[in-house]
Amino acid sequence: MNEKRPFITKEQAEEIVKQYPTPFHLYDEAGIRKNARELYQAFSWNKGFKEYFAVKATPNPRILQILKEEGCGTDCSSYTELLMSDACGFSGKEIMFSSNDTPVEDFQLADKLNATINLDDITHIESLEQAIGHIPERICCRFNPGGVFQLGGSKEGFQVMDNPGDAKYGMTREQMSEAYKILMQKGAKEFGIHSFLASNTISNEYYPALAKILFQLAVELHQETGAHVKFINLSGGIGIPYRPEQSKNDIAIIGEGVRKAYEEILIPAGMGDVEIYTELGRFMLGPYGCLVTTAIHEKHTYKEYIGVDACAANLMRPAIYGAYHHITVLGKEDAPCDHKYDVTGSLCENCDKFAVDRMLPEIDMGDILVIHDAGAHGFSMGYNYNGKLRSAEVLLKEDGSTELIRRAETPADYFATLDFTGLFNK
Ligand SMILES: *Cc1c(COP(=O)(O)O)cnc(C)c1O
Repeated sequence: MNEKRPFITKEQAEEIVKQYPTPFHLYDEAGIRKNARELYQAFSWNKGFKEYFAVKATPNPRILQILKEEGCGTDCSSYTELLMSDACGFSGKEIMFSSNDTPVEDFQLADKLNATINLDDITHIESLEQAIGHIPERICCRFNPGGVFQLGGSKEGFQVMDNPGDAKYGMTREQMSEAYKILMQKGAKEFGIHSFLASNTISNEYYPALAKILFQLAVELHQETGAHVKFINLSGGIGIPYRPEQSKNDIAIIGEGVRKAYEEILIPAGMGDVEIYTELGRFMLGPYGCLVTTAIHEKHTYKEYIGVDACAANLMRPAIYGAYHHITVLGKEDAPCDHKYDVTGSLCENCDKFAVDRMLPEIDMGDILVIHDAGAHGFSMGYNYNGKLRSAEVLLKEDGSTELIRRAETPADYFATLDFTGLFNK
């Protein structure tokens, strides 16, 4: 269980709204920093530990600056994410480039920034060589064990279940050996292993189980090829409790679980210098951002509807995955949830609902709603369907003041890629 209290009060929200009209995404600097420190503490037993924040989760320079101050690097998978990392002062080993289906220019920019390139496929060895004219000394390969990945079976099902065999990412076991051999011949000296087996896991067992698989693989690859495995990247996948009945992962327990696997597998193999990396997005930012929106319409037909001023263009997870995002009506935190509502946005799409049949306190027009856990894969998945404009992003700083860290789009932004010249004789 987790209580799902918003990180702002009604009074704070009313102050912020005077300056920045809803809807906007709000981020909690204190929460982001505290969580990042707990992650580093949990892995402090590993000398080279580093978190490479998955930029795609929350691509905002101010957020990246905060994470950089906490010791994080960035994980990029596109040209513009690389540009943003560079503009934020990340360079060399601070950037992990974990792409797939990679365009030539992306490899070239990653190389120019001396980022660590994580190859998604064995054919990318040739693509990379053609793109940049050589193979870097430091290189990583992404592993996909295939099949189904399951943890913690019980009558209710598996605690974690995902389907690597259906995923487009990574190389097979045989390809990993082959890739290492080819890369060594072409001059690579420091090797990494990367794998992402399950997403949004609510389990302290996921990382330790993944670590065991990758540590075993590291030992085998080292013995087979003689390659120096320098780091193992456990990538993303540690989840957050979107629902109140779920419990939070305990990063200290997760760190200890990985340490145990490290001591059981890598140390006896004489590989006690392997650095552990993570590439978390959701875990780093998810709970520390929310979408703040105002109730602007109510509708009573076959169901009870509350229309808010945000829509799926601001947060699309409910619309595309049917994802649950907890909602708090500010000022009514302790009121009984005795009304059943669909909370909707204004897109001409019936899936544009932040909640369906949700029990909430009675909502009055003008009430401010907090849609929780929108800090990762929230704003960044936004789009412009129906001509909707992306909202602002606001940072709630540690001292309680606020800072606009991205202005809201204007119609001029929407039209900026179009040219009307000569079209309408106006
Ligand atoms: C998306 C992604 C991540 C982050 O995933 P989370 O679920 O946000 O932790 C990490 N690595 C890669 C390669 C990704 O694509």
